[in-house]
Amino acid sequence: MRIWIFTGKQVIWWALVCLTLGIYVGTAYELWIPVFSGSPQRGVSGRVIVIDAGHGGIDPGAVSANGALEKGITLAIAKELERLLQRAAVFVVMVRRGDYDLADSSESHLLHRKRQDLIRRVAIAEEAKADLYISIHANYFPSPIWSGAQTFYYEGRIEDQQLAKDIQTELVKHLGPNHRLAKTGDYRVLRDTTMPAALVEVGFLSNPREAELLSQPSYQKRVASAIFSGILRYYGEALN
Ligand SMILES: [Zn+2]
Repeated sequence: MRIWIFTGKQVIWWALVCLTLGIYVGTAYELWIPVFSGSPQRGVSGRVIVIDAGHGGIDPGAVSANGALEKGITLAIAKELERLLQRAAVFVVMVRRGDYDLADSSESHLLHRKRQDLIRRVAIAEEAKADLYISIHANYFPSPIWSGAQTFYYEGRIEDQQLAKDIQTELVKHLGPNHRLAKTGDYRVLRDTTMPAALVEVGFLSNPREAELLSQPSYQKRVASAIFSGILRYYGEALN
């Protein structure tokens, strides 16, 4: 049996060979990923996205001092977002298209009705095997001083967090100064959906200035455009 004994120089030489080979294999593997496995994070076209216009029917959601109803504002923004997504070749599933909720009209107990309504919203997304779930709401607080759009996600879900951050980034960019960050929220539509989901509070109806803005179709379009840009950003298609 022959035993190889390396000199100091040979050890260094072999170490360099191994290191170079390691770097080469590592780089090549990185480059192969998009070619062979595709990148699930990229590209919005062909996706199935559910848009959930919050509230509806007997449930108006928040009501501003000037009488603006959350359910009408969320639906207007949802329809505009649908238009933008369809232009980007996304298959959009709307949870509602008119002024109604999804519960049985025979259900008279309001809390039971609300629960049934939310369970059905989630079921629509699950049945559609959606890639994303976007829920649209407007905020309300007893004090009128608070303002600013904010996006929520379910704690511990990395993809949801990224989605919420991307939408929040675009909301701040499109709608002006806002120091709010994407935040965790324990909402049923975030908790029970199995696909990445975000809930966007588009502003505060308790703030008179924001309530006025949210009632204007031009501002509703700006909000929809911000959410749309956030979705593009999430799929690696940021416009800038
Ligand atoms: Zn709401």
